[in-house]
Amino acid sequence: LDLERVGVHDSVETVFPPEELATYLAAPSFEAAVIGDDGIGGCDAVVTLEHRDAFLECEWVHSIQAGVDRFPFDAFSAHDVVLTNSTGIHDRTVGETVAGYLLAFSRRLHDHVANQRDRRWGRPDWDEAFTLPGKTACVVGTGTLGSGIADVLGALGVRVTGVRRSSEPVPGFEEIYPTGELLEAISDAEFVIVTVPLTDETRGLFDAAAFDAMRDDAYFVNVARGGVVDQDTLVEALESGTLAGAALDVFEDEPLPEESPLWGMDEVIVTPHCAAFTRDYFRDVGDIVRENVDRLESGESLYNRVV
Ligand code: NDP
Repeated sequence: LDLERVGVHDSVETVFPPEELATYLAAPSFEAAVIGDDGIGGCDAVVTLEHRDAFLECEWVHSIQAGVDRFPFDAFSAHDVVLTNSTGIHDRTVGETVAGYLLAFSRRLHDHVANQRDRRWGRPDWDEAFTLPGKTACVVGTGTLGSGIADVLGALGVRVTGVRRSSEPVPGFEEIYPTGELLEAISDAEFVIVTVPLTDETRGLFDAAAFDAMRDDAYFVNVARGGVVDQDTLVEALESGTLAGAALDVFEDEPLPEESPLWGMDEVIVTPHCAAFTRDYFRDVGDIVRENVDRLESGESLYNRVV
């Protein structure tokens, strides 16, 4: 592939200004330009958030997200289009966001923010606040996100266990369970945190059996994809008190519809799919793209190649 023009598709502007990345990528050997849908045709490669069918005419597409479940893999391979993703950059950002959720629940910070809005001096009940050391978090998915979460929670004294397809150990996790033992793995954790990619295997992984297996005082955290969870069943578990609460960054439908009961629940924190946001995001993505441009030039195989 002889790279002459790289397009930064304007859909990335949900996460950062496209111009920042185009400027960061600028190199003597190729042109980097911000493009809309009408500019896709002139590009050899495109960096994007969303999918467009016109990308199938390009040679290489880079997703600024780790999750690539919205891209049609079969069409990419049929058209010989390479797809790469941004796995590997979200460890610290998502780790800190998840630690923030856990600290909010344990130190009751979400209550204080809600009270402040109403100018209400409302202290927690004597037995509501707690501390994190010695609590167990089971992280389902032990890749970049899972490991970043284990790092930050480990530093807060949380005991972290993990679930992955194999039971090979992963640094930062005290114990690893294979996916087949999910229910056992989550049964005694005070926090269950989901970080698996959305695939045919993980769609609906968190169903009634999973929520039944969890402790009644456990908090559920989803920073993966909405489709990994049966959302109606989650709402039922929250309403009936068989779960203590949830922190959710991703949903079946995004934006989360205004009529969703999740918005109004005291023990639910809703964040708008931004657990990985950072003002450095364009640099982190840019570094992956640059690495792959170098690899293309030297004929090496691409980093983070998905298709
Ligand atoms: P990685 O590829 O680094 O990690 C994925 C992990 O999931 C691996 O440890 C893998 O372990 C495990 N896994 C895959 N399938 C299964 C399964 N069936 N059962 C149990 N474990 C499984 O990806 P990332 O950590 O970078 O990202 C994970 C997902 O998180 C993304 O696909 C994306 O959807 C989401 N994401 C969300 C963000 C947000 O803003 N909320 C930001 C970034 C990512 P093994 O191979 O051993 O099975």
